Amino acid sequence: MVQIFICVDFDRDYGYPITHLKHAVSKPIHLHKPELIDDPQDATSIRGTVEGFDLFIQHLLDEKLPTTFYFEARSINMFNDRYSEKTKLFKLPLFELGVHGYDHEDLTGEETGIRFTKLEEEEIIKKAQMNLEALFSTKMIGFRAPYMRITNNTTNILSNLGFAYDSSIYQESIRAIRPYSINQDLIEFPVIKTPKESPMKGMYTYLWPLFEGNREIEDTIKNYLRIVENSKILDSYISINLHSWHFAYNIKQDRYLSTEDIVHNINMFEKLISALSETEGVIFSTPGKWLKKHKQDLDLS
Ligand SMILES: [Zn+2]
Repeated sequence: MVQIFICVDFDRDYGYPITHLKHAVSKPIHLHKPELIDDPQDATSIRGTVEGFDLFIQHLLDEKLPTTFYFEARSINMFNDRYSEKTKLFKLPLFELGVHGYDHEDLTGEETGIRFTKLEEEEIIKKAQMNLEALFSTKMIGFRAPYMRITNNTTNILSNLGFAYDSSIYQESIRAIRPYSINQDLIEFPVIKTPKESPMKGMYTYLWPLFEGNREIEDTIKNYLRIVENSKILDSYISINLHSWHFAYNIKQDRYLSTEDIVHNINMFEKLISALSETEGVIFSTPGKWLKKHKQDLDLS
């Protein structure tokens, strides 16, 4: 049995790192209103996330697809200020909620040139965690680092703060994988990247190239089915990773998409999901559900 985890990074519209700023900046704001980038709130656009939201969430609800959302605290708060009724949908048992930074911080400072000290890193993750726990009245058990970049301190900080798992590390594999223990408290759910020399070529299991028009849907489906086919280990998983804004904003073209284009993107996602759900031995789940059932099987030595 192969488990599929649909994982959504709930972000500002393509937040990216800028030198000397601790917070991420939405690309359209950097390009068109650069005078606003110094303020973390002004530097955030959630237009793409908002415009893709209704169709995407409706699909998840209609098909009863368990989905994990990693929230950037600022973006979901801005979303909630305008659409508190929609925010409530995330509280449904179908969905699992985790943390994706407060302002999409580049924790390693690799791109911004500002490295977070251990204390600063702990404070910012805790601030996001507390804010999200208050917003959703539930515990945040998962973490995904912005830009998938963690420091030497991140996993210790996460276990100190009571997180159950992290999902910020890529692992090369041609088949579904199993999580592993980082320490007594924290489990890592790596994100698969297929090796360059495999038939899937070097494919990150993010749907980025699909929505940017760099990979065809047929190709994407074929690759996922190959990964499933290669998977013989019991209760292994494949995560399908995407961004909340990517149905409605194209980075390469710096363009917010028309409703027609958004529908097209949602349809591609639906095609991938239905191809997987029609495959024998595939079920949809979440890291938290996996842990509840199997944590005792992991080697915790
Ligand atoms: Zn992100």
